[in-house]
Amino acid sequence: MVSLPVHYPTASLRPHREESLQSGHLWIFSGALQQSPHWIEAGGLVDVKSSTGEFVARGYYNPQTDIAIRILTHDAGEAIDGAFFRHRIRSAIELRQVFEPEQTNTYRLVHSEGDGLPGLVVDRYADILVAQIHTAGMERQRSVLIDALMKETGATGVLLRNESQSRRREGLEVEEPAAAAGDVPEQVAVRENGAQFLVDPWRGQKTGFFIDQRDKRAALRKYARNKRVLDCFSYTGGFSVYAALSGNATIVTSVDISAPAIEAARKHFALNGLEPNDHEFLIADVFDYLERALRNGEQFDVVALDPPAFAKTQSARSQALKAYRRLNTLGMQVLRPGGILLTCSCSGVVGMDDLLGTLAQAARYLRRPVQLLESYTHGVDHPINLAMPETAYLKAVFCRVG
Ligand code: SAH
Repeated sequence: MVSLPVHYPTASLRPHREESLQSGHLWIFSGALQQSPHWIEAGGLVDVKSSTGEFVARGYYNPQTDIAIRILTHDAGEAIDGAFFRHRIRSAIELRQVFEPEQTNTYRLVHSEGDGLPGLVVDRYADILVAQIHTAGMERQRSVLIDALMKETGATGVLLRNESQSRRREGLEVEEPAAAAGDVPEQVAVRENGAQFLVDPWRGQKTGFFIDQRDKRAALRKYARNKRVLDCFSYTGGFSVYAALSGNATIVTSVDISAPAIEAARKHFALNGLEPNDHEFLIADVFDYLERALRNGEQFDVVALDPPAFAKTQSARSQALKAYRRLNTLGMQVLRPGGILLTCSCSGVVGMDDLLGTLAQAARYLRRPVQLLESYTHGVDHPINLAMPETAYLKAVFCRVG
């Protein structure tokens, strides 16, 4: 059978603007367009042509956003239909086969541009999927996507959490969480590297759990064995549980400003056969807590700092760097000489060099030598498209503070 050529409305680029696309970048900014496509609605599919009229790529268009087109394929013969999405989802599933389901049954299944599906995020919690649709282009594919996800993954339910304010920029409504297919329970029991957690997919932060920290949690274990550990910004105790499981004599203090998160952390200890009363759980602002701990002369062997994003925009960057500097200084001050500091940043606009810079400033101020031991970015389930380093957000560093 001869397949018919596929065509969509056309957008054309200014001269030489196809080069970054040819290296695998998936965004076209509105300024790069010579001619916008006519007569198509936000999120409609388009073929992108070079200034000389050659096919470059195919994607979806939004006249309202700075990123005018997000690319879905570079193959002129590939239609954007159910088969296309199923194929991309299968490829994403194949990558996640690195996880042994008896050990780990929660991970990011679709990481937007990193999995060739810009605007779509899907997290897997055992048999439940939590999806976020961030763009008008993906919104138009909603039913096709849900159908493909259910069929390809064998999930028993898909929850849509389309509550991000960024949807407004795309001309989309901000929605309440809603089941898009099957049944979605209030709580889902998951395993991560053998540790047990209960996730609330409906109301939990992000999509319920910070699955982007799996590899960093595993790395923490070896430092935590039979030590006194402080987990700052603990949320539901991801790092804390791993630390406490690492040795019978380990004592963990978990600090978070959210009362439900701390309550869940306590439950997670019990769920993992740990006695919560042997550990400490505090609802507090981390900065206040650290100031107090410092005044009281508290000393820890291991300190983990995993704050929320201090900067979401370039303009907030310098304020954020100050906050990281202050946090890292305080973290080092409650660390005994020779102790281990894990420090993280999930601000996209703060790079690894910036994070290391704040550590260096803290070290100089305190006149304490710092040895860099390990550095991490995302886990394998958060792949980064090599051509789009700007989509990386997570940095984490383990160091020893003398
Ligand atoms: N380490 C966690 C994820 C941390 S996310 C894990 O592994 O799951 C950031 C956390 O910081 C959230 O739980 C949020 O409630 C908390 N938070 C935000 N600002 C805070 C503050 N000033 N003091 C304490 N906790 C804060």
